[in-house]
Amino acid sequence: MPSIETTVAKFRGLRCTSIAAGLPDLLAAAETNEVSYLEFADMLVEHERRQRNHKRILRNRKAAGFPTIKRLEEFDYRYQTTITKRQVNALLDFSFIDNRENLIFIGPPGVGKTHLAIGIGHKAVEAGYKVLFTRAAELVESLDLALAKGELKARITALAKNDLLIIDELGYLPMNKTALYNLFQLVNSLYEYRSIVVTTNKEFTAWGDFFHDDNVAVPIIDRLVHHSRVFMLGGESYRLRQKLTG
Ligand code: ADP
Ligand code: MG
Repeated sequence: MPSIETTVAKFRGLRCTSIAAGLPDLLAAAETNEVSYLEFADMLVEHERRQRNHKRILRNRKAAGFPTIKRLEEFDYRYQTTITKRQVNALLDFSFIDNRENLIFIGPPGVGKTHLAIGIGHKAVEAGYKVLFTRAAELVESLDLALAKGELKARITALAKNDLLIIDELGYLPMNKTALYNLFQLVNSLYEYRSIVVTTNKEFTAWGDFFHDDNVAVPIIDRLVHHSRVFMLGGESYRLRQKLTG
């Protein structure tokens, strides 16, 4: 008869750390419920599988870099009436990620664009996808740095390891030529390969001005928009309204 300690050590040696940690409880449950050998074998493997999934989601949530916790459940569709709950819920089968489509939220400040982007990103993580949230200004800076080090390609490859890249606040700050070039490289690499969620306060027609260069703006927009679902959000700033009534 092996001892529980040696069996636990063997599981640990095979990197089945969850079975190793849970073996005494799993054995006790099996004895109490008088499960069959096959059921017990399945209990072990299911326990390991579930724990691994759980840990992966925790890791992915941390890696996603959400700046704050915003949940779709807290989004008030009575206040924001230019998008419906049905429209948002329809995104949560994540066929848009599987089909490499983009989501574009356009609207003035405070209407819930970032809230929706984070909320959707959060749900995507729960569903097992790898997500990265980044503000456009920070993204541009990191690409600039990578270019200076001769590592732009590697940086873009690393970003493309995510299933979904959220670029928040595109268009708030003007970009120089290098930044535009880098952004084009990124968007081009992700095109039809990964999904992007963009939030912006600029309508497409104004993007040329913002980018200071239609020659680069047009190909970027073209690729972002080609396979995308565009949501135009309107209404008054939720922040302002909180200030006034709160
Ligand atoms: P935007 O990105 O469009 O500028 P945010 O998503 O940052 O706006 O929203 C501003 C603040 O108001 C956030 O704290 C957000 O959670 C909240 N907010 C905006 N719209 C709603 C809404 N419809 N329901 C609940 N909270 C909202
Ligand atoms: Mg925002």
